[in-house]
Amino acid sequence: MNPTNPRHTEPLIFELSAPGRSTYSLPPVEVPERPLAELIPEDLLRKEPAALPEVPEVDVIRHFTRLSQLNHGVDTGFYPLGSCTMKYNPKVNEALARLPGFTGLHPMKPPELTQGALELMWRLERYLCEIGGLARVTLQPAAGAHGEFTGLQIIRAYHLDRGEDRRKVIVPDSAHGTNPATAAMCGCFVVSVPSDDRGGVDIAALEKLLDDNVAAFMLTNPNTLGLFDENIDKIARLVHDAGGLLYYDGANANAIMGWARPADTGFDVVHFNLHKTFSTPHGGGGPGSGPVGVTETLVPYLPVPMVERDEATGRYYLDWNRPKSIGKLMAFYGNFGVLVRAYAYIRAHGPDGLKQVSEDAVLSANYLMRKLQPYYDLPYDRACMHEFVLSARRQKQKTGVRALDIAKALLDYGVHPPTIYFPLIVEEALMVEPTETETLETLDAFVGAMVEIARQAEGNPDALKGAPYTTPVGRLDEARAARQPDVRWRPGKEGA
Ligand SMILES: *Cc1c(COP(=O)(O)O)cnc(C)c1O
Repeated sequence: MNPTNPRHTEPLIFELSAPGRSTYSLPPVEVPERPLAELIPEDLLRKEPAALPEVPEVDVIRHFTRLSQLNHGVDTGFYPLGSCTMKYNPKVNEALARLPGFTGLHPMKPPELTQGALELMWRLERYLCEIGGLARVTLQPAAGAHGEFTGLQIIRAYHLDRGEDRRKVIVPDSAHGTNPATAAMCGCFVVSVPSDDRGGVDIAALEKLLDDNVAAFMLTNPNTLGLFDENIDKIARLVHDAGGLLYYDGANANAIMGWARPADTGFDVVHFNLHKTFSTPHGGGGPGSGPVGVTETLVPYLPVPMVERDEATGRYYLDWNRPKSIGKLMAFYGNFGVLVRAYAYIRAHGPDGLKQVSEDAVLSANYLMRKLQPYYDLPYDRACMHEFVLSARRQKQKTGVRALDIAKALLDYGVHPPTIYFPLIVEEALMVEPTETETLETLDAFVGAMVEIARQAEGNPDALKGAPYTTPVGRLDEARAARQPDVRWRPGKEGA
């Protein structure tokens, strides 16, 4: 019963079942009973009763509570997964998203009956405009990648409107994989620009790639190395002089809120990941939200509908009359519940609070980076923004311990591993993003774990290569686990 074996895992609910252990008792019926055969056609009736588990309520609760704890989550432990901004999700956001006025709202209701929801979307758009320095924002895209798709469609529409079928999209070699994937999906071709030795865009190389076929340059700033590109004004000038537009991958906006506005630094199109920067839950496949904002010139191409306010009456309505729009991208108006959470987050912090969020996120990352620098290689040794990238090159050369082994070993310390092997330009990369929501004690505990693992990599490398030891499962064949998951219940099947 007591899982002294660390590999103990939760049995299937069917394995907890015993005949007759029903979880309910109902009062006697007060109406005449009728056999099912009178109500349902014979051929649709089961021949045998369904093989449902019979388990007492208390065991059902324990079973599902234990299951909910098998995976690491931001509510169970530190989650420094670089590029993902796994910050704490304030529970007040949940309370507000659960208000019956929101949860009971049907998306087919007409604007007369949905003024509150429309007002929330209208206001959220204004806040995101303010944060990004943008003219207008669409809330429709369901995630960052979907935002990129939206943004590039807008950029394509803009060029086509001017009679230019530009198809070249430039991305840095440090870019997130969604950037080139998006460009390809939009019928463009992708050209990669190398990074310079300070981790920024190699300006000379960029200049060579710019020509009259360039549709856009997609840039993350700070980039995936956690470094702010010091040449952003020069980059913007070069791209614009070539007639291209500058796309801002806002996945790293947690580093700059209230300090720099992407549009002020020359970006034309910006996406935000509400599930990263604005604390709405993520992981497990969503739902997310990737609003896209644009500068004045690109407003006509935004998706339909846009939420508008009639200034005379103060009423909100949906504007479908946008002849140059790229169209609709999403069922209804986006992941509305996520929008409520992000709105609550922005309201709870206010402008000064958001600024502080970024300041603290950057401080935490620099603290960790300097504490860990003696134990791991730091390929780009300069002040970082909200995340930084270490390399396990040293460990690999000395004893064959890889970034993967270090990541797995962290699980035994109750820490979710950092992002590994990304960005691609850093060998044995470990990308750490602590976020602003962790205490100094948590950061120090992480340093302790990383230092201990670095020691073990020298003294007992083989043990590290077998980690983790305390999790319900050890090292899986990840490809096979994803492609051939064994989740079936078979009568008599033993516990996992
Ligand atoms: C997360 C991320 C994306 C993609 O965003 P999703 O919301 O996961 O689709 C794009 N670029 C970078 C740099 C990211 O970190």
